[in-house]
Amino acid sequence: MSFSASIITLFPELFPGPLGASVIGRGMAEGRWRLETTQLRDFATDRHRTVDDTPSGGGAGMVLKPDILARAIDTVSPEGDPRPRLLMSPRGKPLTQARVRELAAGPGAVIVCGRFEGIDQRVIEARALEEISIGDYVLAGGEVAAMVLLEAVVRLLPGVLGAAESHADESFENGLLEYPQYTRPPLFEGREIPEVLTSGDHGKVAKWRRAQSEQLTQARRPDLLK
Ligand code: SAH
Repeated sequence: MSFSASIITLFPELFPGPLGASVIGRGMAEGRWRLETTQLRDFATDRHRTVDDTPSGGGAGMVLKPDILARAIDTVSPEGDPRPRLLMSPRGKPLTQARVRELAAGPGAVIVCGRFEGIDQRVIEARALEEISIGDYVLAGGEVAAMVLLEAVVRLLPGVLGAAESHADESFENGLLEYPQYTRPPLFEGREIPEVLTSGDHGKVAKWRRAQSEQLTQARRPDLLK
């Protein structure tokens, strides 16, 4: 059974978007993962297909209504669906490569994309939505955030990246940022490739890369070393 993503959104036309390109799109075409989108508005019950209302307590903007979202979630992910239910949200736990790896090892994900000021707190609790943030900034909606999460997850699924594009040594996989990469030509605008990389000594190369990774992580992301 392949990884199955279900997205609940007011803008299904944004998908697959970038998820249809390159290795991620090829993985979908090969059946290594599947994507289904659901239009939240289809679950509205009034003539105007209203999905939002003004915030209780006042203030600017609109809030997605809990009853409509709950119906959408229950339809997309009925009881017994083993997939985690995620809500893209700037208040969520920041997404990490470790969480990405866990999701990639699982059956898929049901992903709710917020819009406007966000969604009613009661549906977050009633449907046990796991809030996930892609960073400390505010987007206009959860769709791009959901694409970021899925792109990170799908590239880890078996067979999506060829052996030539393996991810064993990448940034975050070993708690460090990746070392600098070089390729031909040997001389570019007066800059040479570090000599160790062309020495043919694999042990030395590995040591140099490890040292570069550690230095870079220390300089740019000391928080990762803790
Ligand atoms: N008023 C909210 C922001 C709403 S932004 C607040 O201050 O917390 C509208 C929607 O965009 C959110 O419901 C969420 O789904 C999405 N979104 C915005 N920033 C995001 C982020 N950093 N990570 C994940 N989703 C985000």
